[in-house]
Formats: sequence, C-alpha cells, structure tokens
Amino acid sequence: MKPATRVLVTGAGGFIGHHLVKRLKAEGYWVRGVDIKEPEFEPTAADEFELLDLRLWDNTLQATSHMNQVYNLAADMGGIGYITGQLASIARNNILINAHMLEASRWNGVKRFLFSSSACVYAGYRQNEAEVTPLREEDAYPADPEAGYGWEKLFTEQLCRYYLHDFGFETRVVRFHNVYGPLGTYEGGKEKAPAAICRKVALAPDDGDIEIWGDGLQTRSFMFISDCVDGLLRLMASGYREPLNLGTEELVTIDQLVDMVCEIAGKQLIKRHNLTQPQGVRGRNSDNSRLRTVLGWEPQALLRDGLAITYQWIEQELEKAGRLSETFAYALV
Ligand code: NAD
Repeated sequence: MKPATRVLVTGAGGFIGHHLVKRLKAEGYWVRGVDIKEPEFEPTAADEFELLDLRLWDNTLQATSHMNQVYNLAADMGGIGYITGQLASIARNNILINAHMLEASRWNGVKRFLFSSSACVYAGYRQNEAEVTPLREEDAYPADPEAGYGWEKLFTEQLCRYYLHDFGFETRVVRFHNVYGPLGTYEGGKEKAPAAICRKVALAPDDGDIEIWGDGLQTRSFMFISDCVDGLLRLMASGYREPLNLGTEELVTIDQLVDMVCEIAGKQLIKRHNLTQPQGVRGRNSDNSRLRTVLGWEPQALLRDGLAITYQWIEQELEKAGRLSETFAYALV
C-alpha cells in the first residue's frame, strides 16, 4: 500500500485549521497539527498535535520535518476590532510565522506550501461603496491594503512568489473572504461578524435589542466552512501558483445578516447602530471568475443555510454554559 501523504496544518487549534484537519483525516492523509493552543471545542483529529510557537525558527524546523505538504493557517488575527487595534504586534507576529514557515518548509524539502491570505489585501480605495464592484485578484494593486494585518498578508503573498522564483519552491496562495461556521470563536473580541451576531441574537430576549457596529449598511459576502475546506484541498491539488479568491458572491448588508439570524432564531429585535465602533471597508465582495476557471468549482452553501447551522451550534454552546436561562430571567423582569 502507498504510504499516506504527510500533511502539516498550522493553526490547527483554530477555526479553519481544526476543520481542515478533520477533512484531511477523512480523506486518508497522515496529519500533524501545530498551534500555540489546543482546539477550543472538541479534540483534534490529527495523528500528532504539537504545541509550538511558530514565530520561533527552531519550532518551525521541528513542525515541518518529514512533511510533504504544508497548509500554513497560523496567524494572529481576529475580527475588525482586534485587527484595527493591534497593528504592530499583529504585523510582527505574522511576518515572523510566515517568513520562518516558508524557509523551514524549503529546508525540510516540503513539496507544496499553501499560504492563507485574506481579502484584507484588497485596495481600500476600491471598497468605498456598499454597492461594491466584486474584487478580482488583480485589484490588490496599486496596493492600499488594510493597515497591519493586510499589509503583512500582501507582503507574504510576494514572499511566496520570491520562493518560487529563486528556489522553484511550490507555493499556493488563497485569499479567503469571511469564513463562518460551527466550532469558531464566538466571543472575547476575536470573533467575526456572523458569530458575534448569532451570539447576540441568542442571548437577546424576544423584542429586546441588538447592538450593531456601524450603520448596518456596510456589505460583505460570507463563506461556509465546508466550502472553505473543500476549496483549500482543490487549490492545493491544482497547478495554480498565483493568489486566488475563495469566497462567495452572495453580497448582503450587515443589517440583512442580522435579519436572517433573527428569522432563524424566531426573534424580533430592535437594531441599535453603534457608529463609534470600527466597521472596516464600506463594501467588499468576491469576484469568483478566476476561481471558476482555475478550479472548475466554487462555494455552494447559501448564506441562509450555513447561518442556520452556525446559529444552532452557538445557541447550544450558550445553553450548555447555562447562559440562555439568564436571557429568559432578564426577559421576565
Ligand atoms: P483562528 O484565529 O481561529 O486560527 C489561527 C490559529 O493560529 C489560532 O488557533 C492561533 O492560536 C494560531 N496561532 C497564532 N499565533 C501562533 C503562533 N505564534 N504559533 C502557532 N500558532 C499560532 O483563525 P482562522 O479563522 O482559522 O484563520 C486561519 C487563517 O485564515 C489565518 O491565516 C487567517 O489570517 C486567514 N483568514 C481567515 C479568515 C476568516 O474569515 N476566518 C479570513 C481571511 C483570512
């Protein structure tokens, strides 16, 4: 029998990494997961899981030894409040992780390296309208990415190109657009909009209110986690070496996102818009033309369906923690 391909997933204690490990195991790969923390909500499915700080060179050498493929998902990141509040430390932590991971992978003879970039690399001047023109891969230039986090991602995309150019090192670069789903952080400051909204709706009494950051008219597209993982495997297997969007083209306002979650929960809530909180760019959508051409595929899940699964999971988590009864007690006061 052919020995299984050995795959390293960094950030395997995080949201996308944890799901990716499960999928790779189901597909018959041998998987090593690495992170500075264990997965939060269930044990890892990895054959081996190591707690290592990948900002450190020796740790990246250890992590990448005897691996055929690397999915490099480890990053210091969070929602818009988090990434706009910590520019220096996020940029420094992520450049250390990515520069060391690339070089250690090359040293250890890794055959293929996938870097997880972000829609935050796209130029701010193309995202000033809610009715935004969907972003094509070439729209990242002339460069004007998100401060700190986006600049680091854009630079590491270039570093991947340089490794290909100088060493023939095979890199793949994915630009994720807002991924959501079960088993993701839903509170504490690092959660993203869909998870935060599901939590707020679950905790609010019917006819209560919900705080929304910004005026609610800003737009985004959101991709369900199963599509994200599917796309990652397809891109890794492809021969495509340039950055590629991975997202949906289903554009919604944040108010519409809130309405969908309220409808799923069967609640009516009054929206309170907080204009003092960060809201990121005004509008952002993915143009999947190249994704369709390169992979012959694109994400399938409708937002309404993915949100229903995500809401149910977050509600269950809050229920298990005994926090929903607080809501009902509050509603009765
Ligand atoms: P996540 O925060 O859940 O996972 C990232 C993981 O990296 C965390 O578990 C964290 O502990 C780990 N990490 C951080 N610093 C580390 C270090 N020094 N050493 C080892 N591990 C470290 O985030 P995610 O949503 O799973 O994102 C995965 C990747 O996708 C990241 O690179 C992120 O920038 C990118 N991305 C995600 C989204 C999204 O919507 N989730 C959008 C764009 C890009």
